[in-house]
Amino acid sequence: MFEITAENGRARCGVLRAGGHSIETPAFLPVATKAFIKTLTPNEAKETGVEAIIVNALHIYRKIFDAVVERGLHDFMKWDGIIFTDSGGFQSIKKFPARITDDGVLFSMPDGNQEIFTPEKSMEVQRAIESDFLFALDDCPSYPYTRRRAEEAVERTIRWAERCQGERNFAILQGGVYADLRKKCAREIAEMDFFGFAMGGLCIGEPKEEMHYMVEVTTPLLPEEKPRHLMGVGSPEDIMACVKKGIDIFDSAFPTRNARHGTIFTSHGKINLGKGNVRGDAIDEECNCYTCRNFSLDYLNYLFREKESLGMRLATIHNLAYMNDLMTKIREEIRG
Ligand SMILES: [Zn+2]
Repeated sequence: MFEITAENGRARCGVLRAGGHSIETPAFLPVATKAFIKTLTPNEAKETGVEAIIVNALHIYRKIFDAVVERGLHDFMKWDGIIFTDSGGFQSIKKFPARITDDGVLFSMPDGNQEIFTPEKSMEVQRAIESDFLFALDDCPSYPYTRRRAEEAVERTIRWAERCQGERNFAILQGGVYADLRKKCAREIAEMDFFGFAMGGLCIGEPKEEMHYMVEVTTPLLPEEKPRHLMGVGSPEDIMACVKKGIDIFDSAFPTRNARHGTIFTSHGKINLGKGNVRGDAIDEECNCYTCRNFSLDYLNYLFREKESLGMRLATIHNLAYMNDLMTKIREEIRG
C-alpha cells in the first residue's frame, strides 16, 4: 500500500509497504538486474540504507528460473526487503537479440530455443518468483526512434497494459519525446486498475530537457494518491528536478555503475578515482558510510590505480550511501 504523508508543490513524501517491509518516498532503488547488486552482499547494501531493489524478470527467466521459483526470489538472493521486478530491457541481452511483435517479446533462450513473453506470461513469471511489485510488459523503442515508431509503441503499450492490471502492479507509460503521445498514453492507462504508474523510455539518449519536459507533462495526468516511478533516471541532479515534478520512486544503474568505473559522488561534487592527481584524507566529510568512516581518499584512489575489486566495492558502498542521504535530505526538504 501507498500513503502520502506530506506535500510541497508537486513534490510529495510517502510510505510504500509490502510484505512486512516499508520504504519512505521519494526513494531511489538500486538495480539488481540479475538478482545481485554488483559487488555487494545484501547486508552491505542494507547498511547503506537500501530497503528496496529492482530485478529483471526476463533475465531471471532466461538464466535461473526454476531455482528461483523453488525458493522465491527473496530467499534465493537473501534480500530481506522489497523487490520490484520489470521484464523490459531485453535490448540489453546482446548475444540473443530480442524482437518485439504484436504478441509480445520474442527472445532466444541460452540453448537457442525461441520463446515469447506475452503480457500474461510476463506477469505469470513475475508472480512465480514472488515479486512484491510487478511491472506491466511494455514496448520501449530504442533511441533514436521515429514518431511513427513511438506511436506504435504507445498503441502496443496501452493494449498490453489492459492485460497486465493488478493490485500490486505498476503500468509503464511510453510516448518517446512527444508530449501528445505521452499524454495520450498516460490518460488511457491512468483509467486502468494499477497500483502505480511508471514512466519508461526516458534517459536513453534523448536530450535532458526533453526528458524533464515529458515528466512535467505526464505527472499531472496521473492519480494523486498512487505512486509514480521514473525508470532509468538516477543522477542526483535529475532526481532532485523530477521529485519537484511529482515523482516518488527512481531506479537506475547510474550510481553503482559509476562507482565500479571509479566515479564517486560527494558533497563537493564528483571525484574520478584511479588518477595520479587525486590526493586527500577524507573521502567525504559529510558521509558516514563504512567506506568514509574507515578509509582515506588516498587509499581508495590507490585501489583503483591497482585495479583492485575492493575499490569497486568500497566505491559502490559510498555511492549508495550518498544516494540514501540525498533522498533523506529531499524528504526533509519536502516536509519543511
Ligand atoms: Zn561515504
